[in-house]
Amino acid sequence: MASVVPRPIRDLGKALIDFALPARCAGCADVIEEPGVFCPSCWVKNLWLGDGGCARCGLPLEGTEAETCARCLERPPPIDRIRAAVAYDDLPRSIALRLKYGRKVALARTMARYMAPLSGNWAGGAILVPVPLHRWRLWSRGFNQSGLVACELAKAWNLPLDQRSLRRIRRTVPLKGMSVLQRRKAVAGAFTVAEGIRLDGRTVVLIDDVLTSGSTAEACARALRRAGAARIELICWARVVRPAQLMR
Ligand SMILES: [Zn+2]
Ligand SMILES: [Zn+2]
Repeated sequence: MASVVPRPIRDLGKALIDFALPARCAGCADVIEEPGVFCPSCWVKNLWLGDGGCARCGLPLEGTEAETCARCLERPPPIDRIRAAVAYDDLPRSIALRLKYGRKVALARTMARYMAPLSGNWAGGAILVPVPLHRWRLWSRGFNQSGLVACELAKAWNLPLDQRSLRRIRRTVPLKGMSVLQRRKAVAGAFTVAEGIRLDGRTVVLIDDVLTSGSTAEACARALRRAGAARIELICWARVVRPAQLMR
């Protein structure tokens, strides 16, 4: 039914609904002034991570560390810069799950709104690449949640969005409960850059919803690097941060 309504009329209808309905907080559904933001009481519940910390991994630095943490200096990670909007906790988790499984696609805009300030030094140009889903998963879900967020960020940052180059060629089992080593093995070879595509010298900004161990993003980074990417960054909505990493 909806598909036979001409697009301009549908868009107008949507605009009218957006106009008529009050904006609601993504956390508690209270009425708020501006769409896509948290109300003050939900905002303070979140632990916002900002752009500080280690220049590479983004985790808080010890007092004796300068710009890069000792771990990154000792073994430079495959991703050149990692940033997340918020520490993974009940509210950020519910936002990510409601987008992914509850199909609340408007939440992609909320996530992007708080990820947008984490932009990097991309004066030389960069492409945005969401962590891809396997095509069967994409088919069953109907959308890639990270792709929706990346689409919003592409608009905010005025950068091209590339949803075709990076592919998930192998379905992976859920990584929950696995050790870092098991996770790394589980995603090894799961990603590739489409044949014939070269990313020589490019800066690629990976977009993901939740960062846990980093195994998935690192597997993506290795595939991008093989295709010639010069610099790879990862911007995500929420990251798991151990309390000890924050207490420093
Ligand atoms: Zn709220
Ligand atoms: Zn680091």
